[in-house]
Amino acid sequence: MTLLRDLTIKNFREGLLAKKYSALEIAQAFFSYIKDTDPKIHAYLNLNEKEALQQAEAADVKIAKGEELGTLAGVPLAIKDNMLMKGSPATAGSRILERYISAYDATAIAKLKAEGAVILGKTNLDEFAMGSSTENSAFGPTKNPHDHSRVPGGSSGGSAAAVASSMAIAALGSDTGGSIRQPAAFCGVVGMKPTYGSVSRFGLIALASSLDQIGPFARTTEDAAILFNAIRGADPMDATGDPNASYGPDLTNPDLTAMRGLRVGLPEEYFVGDGLSSEVAAGVDSVVDTLQRAGIKTKKISLPHTKYALSCYYIILPAEASSNLARFDGIRFARIPGVQDGNATLADIYQKQRGTGFGPEPTRRIILGTFVLSSGHYDAYYDKAQRVRALVKRDFDEAFKDVDVILTPVTPTTAFKLGEKADDPLAMYLSDIFTIPVNLAGLPGVSIPVRNISGLPVGFQLIGKPFREADILGLGRLYESLIR
Ligand code: GLN
Repeated sequence: MTLLRDLTIKNFREGLLAKKYSALEIAQAFFSYIKDTDPKIHAYLNLNEKEALQQAEAADVKIAKGEELGTLAGVPLAIKDNMLMKGSPATAGSRILERYISAYDATAIAKLKAEGAVILGKTNLDEFAMGSSTENSAFGPTKNPHDHSRVPGGSSGGSAAAVASSMAIAALGSDTGGSIRQPAAFCGVVGMKPTYGSVSRFGLIALASSLDQIGPFARTTEDAAILFNAIRGADPMDATGDPNASYGPDLTNPDLTAMRGLRVGLPEEYFVGDGLSSEVAAGVDSVVDTLQRAGIKTKKISLPHTKYALSCYYIILPAEASSNLARFDGIRFARIPGVQDGNATLADIYQKQRGTGFGPEPTRRIILGTFVLSSGHYDAYYDKAQRVRALVKRDFDEAFKDVDVILTPVTPTTAFKLGEKADDPLAMYLSDIFTIPVNLAGLPGVSIPVRNISGLPVGFQLIGKPFREADILGLGRLYESLIR
């Protein structure tokens, strides 16, 4: 019997074509395993069983007829519950969207379907993707599959935990400040935030539109490449899509000899400070060592504005979030029926629906964002933050004159305990100190598990030039081949 935990997108297809199993058998096996396991983890918010089994059967019919198969034919995937899938809920982890049913497919979902994927269900997240632990979900936290007393990271904690516990072969998440890479590191899987503009945001419930990107979670960099290939590309429905995203070198079959020629930068600002735990430092050092032994040239570099990135992000993000979240008036998908009847004023409706619909973290960010955008404060906060953002980006532009890829830790620590930072937003915000600059600069970044670690998973991050996902995934693939 094929073990679900041994399946990758790559070997699943080989087994499917060799008729070792049918797509339907595998999909059914996943659902029975999810029903057994998920009560302990809570990775899923809702399952898509009926449709998924039809999608699996459709893949089997195509195989039987000898028709051409999509690149994801029959592949069981999980999707973060902030992406729209026609006819299904999309709660974004919030009470305010509890009754919402998606009216259309997000472009990324439509592309997965077109490649024949089987969508198992929608996964848990911090409310509106605000958080680093999945504890901000209105529907209860997800547990880290490696240690149920710890968080899986966030905000895409459900997707990371689903892949790490073999409740999906791979998954999609979204990353605004680290929400794919940080949970990938905590759960011991690969997670990539693509270059800004390479995956359509159409149908992704917006957090901060200038930072959000959809990206893959997988067990290997090869699978991440396959999934990214399926969803990338410019889209007429997203004006920030970049035509560059549709081209580029073969991501799934990198030339590993060429990868040995990449110059790797190690930014000093990411390796100092009390915040970096000894486990993470040791893990990342071991990766540097492995790469150096393979003949890869590393170089110390500096990204001097790194220390301003977090403050800058926590002005830009709330500003954009407060404006994006203004659309949720609670009228059409009202969760408190009857509120808008009778003599209720608009203010009454807002107060009741929004006041009880949003949890504490969105409320905090809506208030902060409204403040920094208000007249009189706009220049001092929002405008200033945009200027600092340009400096953070310029640091990377300068660094990339000398190196091809930048290697850093993903998170300062391994997965922390549930509840440990729940009442301390600032401590929680610091979890993303190494991932946020990448979003501010719009660059691709991938989190890859450090191998041979005892204890909790540790990830390392590879940051690439814009639209050079091939470099970071290719170097990651080389690392995976070196430590096998
Ligand atoms: N943890 C960060 C935040 O709370 C990043 C979130 C994300 O990437 N969606 O904003």
